[in-house]
Amino acid sequence: MTQDTRAPSMPALFLSHGSPDTAIADTQAAAWLRQLARELPRPRAIVVASAHFEVSGGVAVSADPEPETIHDFGGFAPELYAMDYPAPGEPELARRIAADLTAAGFVSKAVDRRGFDHGVWVPLKLIYPDADIPVVSVSVDPAQGPEHHFRLGRALAGLGAEGVLVIGSGSFTHNLGEAFRALRAGQRAAEVPSWVSDFTRWMGERLAANDVAALLDYRREAPFAARNHPTDEHLLPLYVAMGAAGEAGTAHLVHDSAEFGVLAMTMWRFDPAPALAA
Ligand code: ZN
Repeated sequence: MTQDTRAPSMPALFLSHGSPDTAIADTQAAAWLRQLARELPRPRAIVVASAHFEVSGGVAVSADPEPETIHDFGGFAPELYAMDYPAPGEPELARRIAADLTAAGFVSKAVDRRGFDHGVWVPLKLIYPDADIPVVSVSVDPAQGPEHHFRLGRALAGLGAEGVLVIGSGSFTHNLGEAFRALRAGQRAAEVPSWVSDFTRWMGERLAANDVAALLDYRREAPFAARNHPTDEHLLPLYVAMGAAGEAGTAHLVHDSAEFGVLAMTMWRFDPAPALAA
């Protein structure tokens, strides 16, 4: 039994993008993202399912050849609004993904115009600052739950073997009301409350055990699920990344920090099972 070495098999990643100013912040998460490229084979393209690309009733895939940088946030430093991420799109890959999703039973469409929201460009600005790798963004559907997004990831599972890096960009916990309270109080380094750590511990244990059934049912089974995710669009990209590593993928905790006490910046890498030689 030998490993197939014909094509680089990319892992899939779940990234917590945090506050938009992660792009310019001196935080543990930003520092980790800045060194991440060294740990990965260089991808030939990147596909990002972003919590900020919300579409209902189907999956949109951006076939925009020159996506603009969207500054979809308010109240941050002028420096952040001056930033852009001029990576090209890849319309051909986008159309193929939309066709694959349709074949897998999804309603899916490649859209001609869709720029990079901050869920896409903030982490990529830190990981690949040269913006020289094509990027295709994929929508999440807040009306659909984890299973839909896990199946969506599964439909993308062949991309890793082609050297395409699949990223789910969201937040491991995301109670924005509580985060803003800490932000206003200037407490970026606030203590992590137990209702957050109980949730992240539960999720971490299930991910390490590849307990897909429990993870898909997190909203009922995980402690304080609804408090950590009043709405769950920021957790749904986790399921896309998980699915993208294929059936026997394994989850590895690769970064763990928190901001404002309640925003877990936890990041996961999902490795596909080693392919067997033909
Ligand atoms: Zn976000």
